[in-house]
Amino acid sequence: MSNDKKKNKSGVEDLPLMQKIVALCKRRGFIFQSSEIYGGLRSAYDYGPLGVELKRNIMNEWWRQTVHEREDIVGIDASIIMSPRVWEASGHVAGFNDPLVDCKLCKSRFRADKAPQVGIDAEVEYRKQGKTIVGVAERGYVCPECGSVELSEERQFNLMFKTDLGPVKSDDSTVYLRPETAQAMFVNFLNVQQTYRLKLPFGIAQQGKSFRNEITVEHFIFRSCEFEQMEMEYFCEPEESDTWLDYWKDQRYQWYIGLGVRPENLRLRPHDSDELAHYAKACYDVEYKYPWGWDELEGIANRTDYDLRNHQRASGKKLTYFNPQKVNPETGKPGMHYLPHVIEPAAGATRSVLMFLVDAYDEEPPSEGRKDGRVVLRLHPRIAPIKAAVLPLVKKDEWLTGKARDIVKRFWKNSVNAFYDEKDAIGRRYARQDEAGTPFCITVDGQTKEDDTVTLRYRDDMRQERIKVDEAVAIVEAKTRE
Ligand code: ATP
Repeated sequence: MSNDKKKNKSGVEDLPLMQKIVALCKRRGFIFQSSEIYGGLRSAYDYGPLGVELKRNIMNEWWRQTVHEREDIVGIDASIIMSPRVWEASGHVAGFNDPLVDCKLCKSRFRADKAPQVGIDAEVEYRKQGKTIVGVAERGYVCPECGSVELSEERQFNLMFKTDLGPVKSDDSTVYLRPETAQAMFVNFLNVQQTYRLKLPFGIAQQGKSFRNEITVEHFIFRSCEFEQMEMEYFCEPEESDTWLDYWKDQRYQWYIGLGVRPENLRLRPHDSDELAHYAKACYDVEYKYPWGWDELEGIANRTDYDLRNHQRASGKKLTYFNPQKVNPETGKPGMHYLPHVIEPAAGATRSVLMFLVDAYDEEPPSEGRKDGRVVLRLHPRIAPIKAAVLPLVKKDEWLTGKARDIVKRFWKNSVNAFYDEKDAIGRRYARQDEAGTPFCITVDGQTKEDDTVTLRYRDDMRQERIKVDEAVAIVEAKTRE
């Protein structure tokens, strides 16, 4: 058997893009299948040394711009397991369902709303026992695996993971792993508003794990059962909610563009009225052009006062906001208690990791002066896992390795994640860093001994320039923030 795999001009095995990304994630230590030595667990993933940095950097960028750099938004970090009454009041226990269908022919199980839609009573061809036959799609969709119309009834399947709190399993021991981070912001609304004396409009932000027992998990980390979210609830005057929805949809779109996402791959799509969630008055999706087509990255919804009203009713606790200036239409006097309305930008952190990887992935064929092609991750320096790799030109020269180690420590002292590497020829080390998305390499060589300068190599165009050792940290820091 030949080991020759078909390669393209850049020297990369010719595979669909998603397969290349999954292979790169494993090869470089971004993302591994969970419990791999036991055959792996469906839909569970572990973030390796580069993946954990990338995910944290994305989440930190969101936190910096959403919480730290604004006067009107504060953060919380709530418990994953909350009172089950929260999920009863929010509507999740009764209604957080997806329509589950089984294919009677190939036995695959799928979500009716995500299946290929062909139109009610359309005639479709599919294969059965080696023959092509024609069937009628009574429900307007077909099996995503085999295209058949031989389908079970739709059953409503609740996506929440159930478990028991305490050692004894009983009717009232049931608790749920949260399926979204949002509800903690609603149930803490008054705690946060009063302790921080916040005035409308203001927001509460949270990041963290959420869990959904998804019927179909797909596209690597795009849809998994355990994932991370970055959500913010922006409480505003009811009559200003349309304006704030407009504002937040633009802010969120620009956040991705500011982190280098190619504009041609990103769009805002308003929801049609028939696809709106039951709690939403209006909604936009930020969509990305993934290798399989346009799909959701983030939702920005006008949730009105739906959540606060439901929690107020179910808990029996008043959750109204007091505005001393607002004139009460009933009394004609200033001073009014009311429920604010809410705009919610809800983004997926793990889904963003995939999007940034896909968007940054690039291959270059060999060019003049460079005989090999290369794979390069053009990640924005702010989210790149490693900001600078410090490389002694030769490993055997102790002066060079000592100097390089001294430089890498200067980066660490300034909280810049830098990486020291002396293994293999310099070209291979550059290639490894290109695949890791490291925007800058600093090479210590013979000339460093003479004039205390090093080479600064840029990942994107491989340009090189000499800079002073003493300026290396400041230059990389400034370029990372550009
Ligand atoms: P979908 O329609 O794709 O199931 P959704 O509209 O139910 O998603 P939301 O409840 O709005 O998703 O969640 C907000 C964000 O959380 C999504 O835009 C997505 O980025 C992320 N997200 C939701 N479910 C998953 C999942 N199973 N795996 C990874 N990320 C997810």
